[in-house]
Amino acid sequence: MFFEKQVDLRSRDAMVSFLAEHYRYNTMNSWNGATSYAHCIKIGRLGLKAAQVDRAYEMLETDFWDEIQLPIDTFTMEFAGRYTIGTNGRSGGYLVLYNSVHELTGHQSHCRSCGQRNFKRVHETDLSTPRGIIEANVFRNGGCWVDAVYLDEPTIKEVDLADDKKLSFIRAAKIACKDETIGNKCGRCHAEGENGRVNYTVMPSRLSVYPGKSIDQREDFVEWSMGELRNRVKLVQAFDRACDEIRSAFIDLVDHCEVVDEVVMVPQHRKVINCTISA
Ligand SMILES: [Zn+2]
Repeated sequence: MFFEKQVDLRSRDAMVSFLAEHYRYNTMNSWNGATSYAHCIKIGRLGLKAAQVDRAYEMLETDFWDEIQLPIDTFTMEFAGRYTIGTNGRSGGYLVLYNSVHELTGHQSHCRSCGQRNFKRVHETDLSTPRGIIEANVFRNGGCWVDAVYLDEPTIKEVDLADDKKLSFIRAAKIACKDETIGNKCGRCHAEGENGRVNYTVMPSRLSVYPGKSIDQREDFVEWSMGELRNRVKLVQAFDRACDEIRSAFIDLVDHCEVVDEVVMVPQHRKVINCTISA
């Protein structure tokens, strides 16, 4: 345990001093003035052995975060997306506790071939049924005609159903066609059928972070109940623990991996003169 501290959860004083004395840092920048629980993770402050320091500085030149960010994902999941951990400060020298929230992206379906997401659902219908025939007609022009015009439409006229039944299907289809499509063709790769779009069963969401929101800044905790204090201490301890895991993962990287130079060939388009065309 480098960052994590034991706290007596039965003692109000112990909990308040743990929270009030915890290291803090800006959530955005110094002019914004908002701060939250934080830890400094500059190389000089990680408690590294002399032999590790040079290798650690070399590591900073790589995309090392990809390798060590699992504790952040686990922490965010543990708190259902209401809190997350981000880096802040010049060259990301601080880990900061942030407020966040899972927000639905609004996508309703995705393509099974290219993965493209779509804001419309695939309307499930059987086009060979009377209802399917009516729906296909309404969807075709976005439901913009008045009901009576649809009733007079030749293919709908032919359908063997009472007019009031047809009208109820027409009205339902007019609403559905705003958010759904008949057929599941992908707008990007044009795949359809088995390979085309399919509705999400779990709606996709993304994590929105509130970088301007402070946490417990200028809070004296006087009005907090023991239960509220305990919950907050547990949150901050979980943050400390995650920071410890990130630190350990970084040290592991320094101890077991080396930074090597790699030359990458980048394909480049250019115009050249070709004189082999016969006049
Ligand atoms: Zn596609």
